[in-house]
Amino acid sequence: LCFSSCNLPQKLEVNLESAGYEIPTPVQMQTIPCAMANRNVLVSADTGSGKTAAFLVPVVSRCAYLRMQNHSDQKKPLAMVLAPTRELCVQVEDEAKVLGKGLPFKTALVVGGDAIAGQVYRIQKGVELIVATPGRLIDLLTKYDVELDEICVLVLDEVDCMLQRGFRDQVMQIFRALSHSQLLMFSATISQEVEKMASSMVKNMIYVST
Ligand code: AMP
Repeated sequence: LCFSSCNLPQKLEVNLESAGYEIPTPVQMQTIPCAMANRNVLVSADTGSGKTAAFLVPVVSRCAYLRMQNHSDQKKPLAMVLAPTRELCVQVEDEAKVLGKGLPFKTALVVGGDAIAGQVYRIQKGVELIVATPGRLIDLLTKYDVELDEICVLVLDEVDCMLQRGFRDQVMQIFRALSHSQLLMFSATISQEVEKMASSMVKNMIYVST
């Protein structure tokens, strides 16, 4: 598999090349075709394996194609990544900006530490992707009118952590609101318990192990 055989928007191919991503990593080779085919996937992949691009390439591609087809003025979010920490969300958003450059692909970061009003304003002006920690996202949704009904891909990064007590109730609350979405889940370690929970959330999940 190479990136140019994946039917990606041409600008995304250019951005991958500019970033020095010439050959997909093993986790990208296994995950991108499944994700592009709309499958739900649970991926076990270490940090450093290229797992962020493994979900961002299909996310950027889907969002950009959807937006190019639909020229309505109201640009509701189309995809969401949930991660456990602010730092991880910042990293994911940074990589998303690199890959989405020049495409109809704007991002909003929804994490603690910054004013919530600015985050809401950015979403309401129109974004394709929200990158959020679960607590701040729920906080935002209870206080502001932000519509998530067009979200069609949900990514859970560090899913082992996200389905542990502490995060689990918040993540499940968000998942239930978006349960029509494709679900992409990533983690370095996947316990039997997490695998069980993940496969109970969606039908026909593909398990990718690298
Ligand atoms: P991650 O596992 O997502 O933390 O990625 C680890 C590092 O690999 C990041 O610095 C990426 O920029 C880089 N990377 C991801 N995919 C590729 C690729 N296909 N070729 C070269 N570098 C990559």
